[in-house]
Amino acid sequence: MRFMLRLKIFFILLLTVFCSVGFAQVKIRLFANQSPESSVFSVTEGTYELNLFNGEILSVIKNEPVIITRYNGKLAVKKRNAKGFICDSLAFTGKTGNDSFSLMMNGKSRIRQYYSGDLCCLPDLGTLVFINISDVEKYIAGVVMAEGGPGKNLEYFKTQAIIARTYMYKYFDKHLADRYNVCDNTHCQAFNGLSSDTLINKAALGTRGLVILDKDSTLIISAFHSNCGGETSSSEDVWLLPQPYLKSVVDPYCHASRNAIWRKSFPVNEWVSYIRKSGYNGKMDDPSVFNFVQKSRLVDYKTGSFSMPLRSLRSDLNLRSTFFSVYAIGDSIVLKGRGYGHGVGLCQEGAMEMAAKGFNYKQIIDFYYFGVLISDIKNAVALP
Ligand SMILES: [Zn+2]
Ligand SMILES: [Zn+2]
Repeated sequence: MRFMLRLKIFFILLLTVFCSVGFAQVKIRLFANQSPESSVFSVTEGTYELNLFNGEILSVIKNEPVIITRYNGKLAVKKRNAKGFICDSLAFTGKTGNDSFSLMMNGKSRIRQYYSGDLCCLPDLGTLVFINISDVEKYIAGVVMAEGGPGKNLEYFKTQAIIARTYMYKYFDKHLADRYNVCDNTHCQAFNGLSSDTLINKAALGTRGLVILDKDSTLIISAFHSNCGGETSSSEDVWLLPQPYLKSVVDPYCHASRNAIWRKSFPVNEWVSYIRKSGYNGKMDDPSVFNFVQKSRLVDYKTGSFSMPLRSLRSDLNLRSTFFSVYAIGDSIVLKGRGYGHGVGLCQEGAMEMAAKGFNYKQIIDFYYFGVLISDIKNAVALP
């Protein structure tokens, strides 16, 4: 048993060494929330070497899919029309310098996605762990594709690329204990594989290495949201932690956008029951006592001597934003709201409109983050 444990540690160390990357690369755990049981690796460009770390090294070319399955705590690996192998871990290494592959997962759902660079795999806690070692800029383009929203302007994509790169480097060691840098779901940043949008790829390469630093040259928390409703939130009003660069700003650019306004109504008795549970013990006879107006952003909902944080109402009632007014209309309590998201940092729909009006990425970033500097990652004081 102890020998098996040592053997396992040895293979993990071997894989860690093999998967160690330089500054221009990032290790991404793929399909992190899918719990895949098996998958199919296919070369889409170039040639790969497959190392099974048991003395076997195979060459893999196009049209030679490799099936990887979890088998008694190990991996079963088989190329089409060839004999199968059992191993503890494996690594695909690109040999031409321009190598890419697809990975099809059989787990909760069946998904095929496209990647470039190298790939490691090992079994862990009833699932397969896939780690892609990717060029940073290809990863950044993939994140912008997944998280960037419907904007279609180069300067907007450059803005999103710089935000995504800043976030990646700031949290580069978030998963270090797990032997990778980032996972591919929203716990880190959504990444569904390579970007197929040439404008996004151009934006990532055109801003290569650029990140946002505060006045002390530290990477900022590059928060963003869908639509601020005309005014962004200060970070202390949402997350209780003040940041000099995350201060409320009046945004004239997002009023006409998709997520500018929302409306939600509740039967009066449902509202009364919720507000009572939250500690309200004032008058109930006239629903207009619950009326509340936000012309500019406030922190608390107030009626009479009762108050509670707007962020609590937002999460309890699943509201699009904390920027809303309350009106008693007939038998209903109607919430008329503005914006979508927490409201801190960059407003995506405002940024899209700024880009459409001809502002460049520097002007957009300066507008939403106070007193920041756009600089190469080499100039950040706390390098990952
Ligand atoms: Zn993560
Ligand atoms: Zn806005």
